[in-house]
Amino acid sequence: MAHERRSFPPQREPIPTDHDPDEHLPTAYLRPGEADRVLAGHPWIYEGSILRFTRPPEDGAVVQVKDHRRRFLGTGFFNSKSRIRVRVLTPDRTEIDAAFFERRIQAALAHRRRFMPEATSYRLVNAEGDLLSGLIVDKYEDVLVVQTSSLGMDQRKSTLVSILQKLLRPRAILERNDMGARKFEGLPEANGVLAGKLSEEEQAALPVRLNGLQFEVNLQTGHKTGLYLDQQVNHGLVAKYTEGARVLDAFSFVGGFGLNAAHAGATRVVGIDQSAEAVAVAQRLATRNKFEDRCTFEAANVFDWLRARATPTPPATTVEPAFDVVILDPPSFTRNRAAVPDALRGYKEIHLRALRLLRPGGILATFCCSHHVDARVFDATIREAAYDARRQLRRLATYTQGADHPVLPAVPETEYLKGFAFEVLAP
Ligand code: SAH
Repeated sequence: MAHERRSFPPQREPIPTDHDPDEHLPTAYLRPGEADRVLAGHPWIYEGSILRFTRPPEDGAVVQVKDHRRRFLGTGFFNSKSRIRVRVLTPDRTEIDAAFFERRIQAALAHRRRFMPEATSYRLVNAEGDLLSGLIVDKYEDVLVVQTSSLGMDQRKSTLVSILQKLLRPRAILERNDMGARKFEGLPEANGVLAGKLSEEEQAALPVRLNGLQFEVNLQTGHKTGLYLDQQVNHGLVAKYTEGARVLDAFSFVGGFGLNAAHAGATRVVGIDQSAEAVAVAQRLATRNKFEDRCTFEAANVFDWLRARATPTPPATTVEPAFDVVILDPPSFTRNRAAVPDALRGYKEIHLRALRLLRPGGILATFCCSHHVDARVFDATIREAAYDARRQLRRLATYTQGADHPVLPAVPETEYLKGFAFEVLAP
């Protein structure tokens, strides 16, 4: 990450000695100018920021970090195989032991209980956002799913499992470590039950409650650890606009927005997702929640689906607006910065067509989960689409990720989900 601030006046390269009184841990000395970001609370230390180590640490071991003047900055995990050489866990001289992890997980739990008191399924630990870089824990009712994406965390999995058992007494703890990011730490993929028991059937379709509705999660193959928990709060917020409405839930997955809309009194819900498996689950959930007469979920590519419905057939020059509320919740179209222009073209296209399908006075609720497209760029893209569609928008709400996916302003990577609701003004 670019780092602009420099110490002033400029400092010469230090020559740290190895006779440091608190040198019971290997110490990484940072280059001049590299300490500010760590002091501000960013836990990632890249190879290029490190001047030298006092002795070579083992991969996964705890090291301490100091600036070039030997000022203590924090303690964290080392991994020579990762571009992020050190992940700082604490700015103190605290011992990184079981008691440390128990305190951090307890604090994460207290945060959810405080800010999402009604929720029974949520992300319990969200890595950097909970000051536990490399660890994700999702709570699906009485089952926990763990992801360890740093070597240091992965090596301490059994300690973490014991702490989770003690604090939450779950029926089972699974690991869902099949994500690609593990390879950046030299870790193999691994899935399975770490503690307790859960039948194959339950692993494939565990019933969970979200916003008081019945959902189910596939803990073996579902996206992320099974569900998009980050949208749980927004499902409820967007549903406030859907009473009596005809609703399009585009990129519906298992129907989070659509089913909440039906619950709030939508007269008609159409959900579209390219995953036939997700669509089948959504349809089953519509029935289980007794909305089957009002909900239809369809497996299709949203781009094709919108193109077919939102393009006027000559001699007509406009399309009949078929919806009162349209929800757009696409996947991240960008894995990296280079792909941003293509992604923006995609975002613009779906907005343009969605606006054509909305009646005047209708509402567009739209989300962007790409970290590389920030809220301003996203907003500008929507404005371009509105201009082309000749629609004037009035903003009703802005959305962010749920409180169980906390954002630390000092760690920009913790923020990725943003959304808006707009009213389409009558001409
Ligand atoms: N709205 C969902 C989450 C959506 S995640 C919720 O709140 O739970 C994005 C979804 O888009 C995934 O389910 C993925 O299968 C689907 N998807 C990705 N590309 C698509 C496309 N071109 N057409 C339709 N669905 C697509």
